[in-house]
Amino acid sequence: MDQTAHRELVSQLIKLDTVGGHEESLARFLKAYLNNYQIDSQLIEVEPDRYNLVAEIGDPRKPVLALEGHQDVVALGDVSKWQHQPLGAEIEGTRMYGRGTSDMKAGLAAEIIAMVELAHTDYFQGHVRLLATIGEESSEVNHMQGAQYFAQHGYVNNVAGVIVAEPSGVPNNWLQQEPPTNPFLFSESQIKQLLANNQTTEQFVLDYAHKGSITYSIVSNGKTAHSSTPELGIDAIAPLIKMYQQQATYFNHLSAINPVLGKCIAVVTKFSGGDQLNSVPAHAEMFVKVRTIPEISNDVIIAHLKTMIGNLNNAGQAQLTFNLLGNKYPVQSNPDNKLISLLHQIGEEELHEQLPVGGSSAGTDASELIRANPNMTVAVFGPGNMTAHQIDEYVDLTNFEHFITIYKRVIQAYFK
Ligand SMILES: [Zn+2]
Repeated sequence: MDQTAHRELVSQLIKLDTVGGHEESLARFLKAYLNNYQIDSQLIEVEPDRYNLVAEIGDPRKPVLALEGHQDVVALGDVSKWQHQPLGAEIEGTRMYGRGTSDMKAGLAAEIIAMVELAHTDYFQGHVRLLATIGEESSEVNHMQGAQYFAQHGYVNNVAGVIVAEPSGVPNNWLQQEPPTNPFLFSESQIKQLLANNQTTEQFVLDYAHKGSITYSIVSNGKTAHSSTPELGIDAIAPLIKMYQQQATYFNHLSAINPVLGKCIAVVTKFSGGDQLNSVPAHAEMFVKVRTIPEISNDVIIAHLKTMIGNLNNAGQAQLTFNLLGNKYPVQSNPDNKLISLLHQIGEEELHEQLPVGGSSAGTDASELIRANPNMTVAVFGPGNMTAHQIDEYVDLTNFEHFITIYKRVIQAYFK
């Protein structure tokens, strides 16, 4: 395939609307696309209108190197603010614009192209599995259900390593601004050094770790009564405030620090209670998001929260209920693993820049995948940038080309 054919694939993926889900059209397109290159694939209906896709090449006796990506994209935001057609895949200079260009249809396309091009060489001796998922970005409650499906149905049991092609770059000019827009939290001296060694328009990072998360709500149920006779009611807000304070104390005292991920951090994202100005509140609710690290397991935290709630319920009249809305495990691979080393070395060669190696706070599908196979090496490394989720999201097509080469070279070297 030539560069035009590479770009054409990204363009087609952008034009297939998977805003907020509806991955069926895209999954079917990919099946036909792979079929054109004599690669079999399987569509899996995870939910109505939502299909995972899995395809495989190579020697089935070998351990698997998986290439992973989600097919859905986030909402367009305020369409009137876009300078480009949000689903138009318009090319201007070396940029292609559109929702999902960075997050992460270019990444998925680079993986697919690498796979197709390797499948048609006579020297390829590896075993590669493409895992395209639904619902990474777009589910009300327990998202990543496409990855969850793969994990629960044996698709990652024999996977030795996985490359998640989520956007890993930041435009250089973001780092050059005063103060710099710096999503990777580089230090000032690091920015200077990285830019001095960077011959492209973007600075990438290679992640082998990311935080997990726990999303939960706590509902408090009391009994309403006229505010002039509060003794007849049960206030639902007061015990929830107690819980708010107790959990804050609990999280503040978690002292473990992961060397690349930092601390476990909890944020109360929503708090509401009461119905009327003149009534005892019978209902209150709090939503919490916790970003977790491997040192303190998600399950330990959940058990502790439930104990706190049990104690409050025993002590008071209102009843608190814990609702687990999402439970994503943290990911941490060994940075000395062959897959990470190869991505690091070949990535630096192809991108013509220094690649910091580390971890991030944001989760990926890997949180679900590693539940089935905790020993699998996870690398998060893809061609997009941090314009992901923003107006006028774009991917740099030069770096997109570099990533195709990186994936191909890494896959070949991995099986040598
Ligand atoms: Zn993504």
